[in-house]
Amino acid sequence: MQQLKNLQEQVELAPYTTMKVGGPADYLVVVRTAAEVKAACDWAAAQNVPVFVLGEGSNIVVSGEGVHKLVMKVELAGFEAITEDDTAVTLRVGAGEHWDGVVERTVEQGWAGIEAMSMIPGTAGAAPVQNAGAYGQEIANTLVELEAYDMNEHRFVTLKRADCGFAYRHSRFKGDWAGRFVITRVTLRLSKQPPAEPTYASLRRWLDENAIAKPTVAQIREGVMAIRARILPDPSVVPNSGSFFKNPIVDGARLAELKKRFPDIPSYEYEDKFKLSAGWILDQCGFKGQEHFGFKFWTGHALVITNPGGSAGYDDLLKLVDLIVRTAQDKFGITLEPEPLFVG
Ligand SMILES: Cc1cc2nc3c(=O)[nH]c(=O)nc-3n(C[C@H](O)[C@H](O)[C@H](O)COP(=O)(O)OP(=O)(O)OC[C@H]3O[C@@H](n4cnc5c(N)ncnc54)[C@H](O)[C@@H]3O)c2cc1C
Repeated sequence: MQQLKNLQEQVELAPYTTMKVGGPADYLVVVRTAAEVKAACDWAAAQNVPVFVLGEGSNIVVSGEGVHKLVMKVELAGFEAITEDDTAVTLRVGAGEHWDGVVERTVEQGWAGIEAMSMIPGTAGAAPVQNAGAYGQEIANTLVELEAYDMNEHRFVTLKRADCGFAYRHSRFKGDWAGRFVITRVTLRLSKQPPAEPTYASLRRWLDENAIAKPTVAQIREGVMAIRARILPDPSVVPNSGSFFKNPIVDGARLAELKKRFPDIPSYEYEDKFKLSAGWILDQCGFKGQEHFGFKFWTGHALVITNPGGSAGYDDLLKLVDLIVRTAQDKFGITLEPEPLFVG
């Protein structure tokens, strides 16, 4: 059997995720360079073992059966301004960089474009996968291109933003490209101009309360961090996967129908459709603060399911998801979809 440096076998994956459920990986390897990415992919292809790419495990749920794959934990570092003029900077970031560390460093420089995405857990390389975003910004707004290893073609490629099929919490990496690429670097274009005025209601409120009329990037980061600390549990203290369901998107006709039955239903324009609030839906179903099958809905945010003490398991989570989806379907006729990827 061909050797792969630092290969581990039968590694419990729950500690590698923020939800802390699930069984072991058949194989696990940590990669810190492009050469290690290629070596791991070559090994997996030779052994006929599928690869699962792991960042910080903040948006996955691992099956109780474990993962019969090579789990490749991406830890490639790098933070480099590759072009810069008076108005903008182009930044290249290693896929394994902790996303919030990247945001912090860009904000320290006064660069605008990702400041509202402060405190999103996970790696820079995972951010394009679900087009991570918050408070009116998403990575699709600043991503220029990314570098990745193509496991079909066995070579490194550069993929432009337009290739990636970005949509709300979605990209081709979750669609027809799922399982094909290992993202190794992302290139972002950030502005040196004052940041765009935030429009997101809770952030606007925080700025008003703090008498900030024209916020700097640092003030936007501070506001976002204050709001997030208030409403979201810290996954390093209370296991969770953040927002557990995607906000449903409906067309105007469906929204009008819902408004007749639920006049207070919040909605936000999203392209030519409307985004509803999955958190509000769960709240209306009475889930906020409730406990089921060992999991507890966070009192500050019904959309966050926590695993207190990390003691509940994968099967319990499946039961809870089933209960939630059925309840929301019965009350609103809406099928909620989990945001984290279920990996098995
Ligand atoms: C408390 C909390 C709050 C959160 N808030 C937000 C939020 O506001 N907005 C938001 O968008 N998300 C949010 N999330 C979800 C999560 O933080 C993001 O989706 C994040 O980008 C996931 O990064 P990760 O490194 O943990 O990815 P993982 O969970 O490890 O992986 C997620 C997916 O990306 C793939 N992947 C990871 N790295 C790579 C790579 N290098 N190449 C190819 N594929 C890769 C994996 O295979 C998997 O499909 C939150 C999560 C938590 C726990």
